[in-house]
Amino acid sequence: MSESYVIVGDGVAGSSAAETLREENPEADITVITDEGEPLYNRILIKEFAKGTMPEDPVFIHDEEWYEERDIDLRLNTLVTNVRADDHEVVTHEDEVIPYDGLLVATGGTPIQAPAPNSDANGIDHFWTFQDARDIRENAEEADNAVIVGAGLLGIDLAAIVGKHDVENAHYIMRGNRWWRYALSIEGAEIMHQAMRDLGVNLVFESGIDEFRVDDDGYIKETVDANGEVYPTDWASVAIGLNFNIELLQNTDVTLDWGIHVDETMRTEEEDIYAAGDVTQFHDQVIGDTAQNGSWGSAQEQGKLAAKSMLEDQGGDVTAEPFRWVSSYSITHFDFPFISFGHATRGTDHAERKYGEQEWRRLAFDDGQLVGGVLIGDMSLQSQFNKIILSEAQVADQKDVLLQQDFDLDELDADIEE
Ligand SMILES: Cc1cc2nc3c(=O)[nH]c(=O)nc-3n(C[C@H](O)[C@H](O)[C@H](O)COP(=O)(O)OP(=O)(O)OC[C@H]3O[C@@H](n4cnc5c(N)ncnc54)[C@H](O)[C@@H]3O)c2cc1C
Repeated sequence: MSESYVIVGDGVAGSSAAETLREENPEADITVITDEGEPLYNRILIKEFAKGTMPEDPVFIHDEEWYEERDIDLRLNTLVTNVRADDHEVVTHEDEVIPYDGLLVATGGTPIQAPAPNSDANGIDHFWTFQDARDIRENAEEADNAVIVGAGLLGIDLAAIVGKHDVENAHYIMRGNRWWRYALSIEGAEIMHQAMRDLGVNLVFESGIDEFRVDDDGYIKETVDANGEVYPTDWASVAIGLNFNIELLQNTDVTLDWGIHVDETMRTEEEDIYAAGDVTQFHDQVIGDTAQNGSWGSAQEQGKLAAKSMLEDQGGDVTAEPFRWVSSYSITHFDFPFISFGHATRGTDHAERKYGEQEWRRLAFDDGQLVGGVLIGDMSLQSQFNKIILSEAQVADQKDVLLQQDFDLDELDADIEE
């Protein structure tokens, strides 16, 4: 077989797809296109780099040689602007036309700017790429007055970075009354709040950004919050979510929402076009609904699976098994662990308990099934909860068992595969 595969995006989803394609098909033409200027690096570790606790080298995963050795054509600094599905071609920003037999879109997302005047001013950073991390590290090192915006998983990284660099006067502005309010109650969030306060970060709740004020050179000098408070600012960092990079598919019949719709094997509705990673709105068989994950492990697995679907559709001797995966996301900035697993922000029914100053658990249920949760302080039961999620068992009526500090799957009245 000598099919040609084109992968847009060299994040973990795109890169692991390329690796799987090459392993399964030594003859295929494989092209990986990325608008970034460097090959795959560990996006999870860029926060450690920005904190100043890690040098650059360990952050890189592949160098250009890795692609050469596998005869994978890596195109850096190249943006794919359009897909011509009928002709099986992609078009780059330089109008280069690249044909494909199978196309994988693994383009992730781009940080959203705060909907406020001057949100693109100098001295305001967003956090997604290694280059962002370099800028953030440099700016955090020099800042005396910092503002952080966005009460989510990347916002807390920014708080940790600010704390590590001992920024004198740091304010973390959040919209609701707590950090990550979609997954945590006040009781759980308060553990995280205290940890951030211990780093010297001032938390501002029930707020938002009204305006960034700039000096004559267009550099940020003040932040005005939604309550009219004015914070002197020589550096601001914003993490309020992502716009998913779907524009390239706009002229195709692929169903686009805020992400790219795929089935449980990463196939879109358009023949020979697949998607993987953060950008997908995939059919999650486990919860029986459309879902989107934003985690490294999930993106990696989806990349491998998409490659298998591509190979299968080109007649390869490979079977693409449906995606059944419990994603997880941990925070390691504090002296206690934190992990969210599954769909922690979903659920119509919840159960939670505090076990100690820094130990707390919350579980989310939908239609009687466990769908996700958050563990603070003790992660030892995570694999048990993963098994319960994957079993799709009705367990919402056994909350007392699930909230026992140490519980064993045997104690649960359900059929769970060990
Ligand atoms: C600071 C930070 C910390 C994180 N910490 C964790 C963590 O602790 N645990 C965890 O599980 N996850 C974490 N994540 C999330 C995790 O990194 C992502 O879920 C994962 O990297 C997504 O991989 P992806 O391949 O789907 O997308 P991405 O890694 O976003 O890769 C997409 C690539 O496609 C490129 N691209 C986009 N459009 C085009 C185009 N049109 N043409 C060419 N190239 C294009 C982009 O530039 C990018 O390089 C973190 C993310 C960040 C930013």
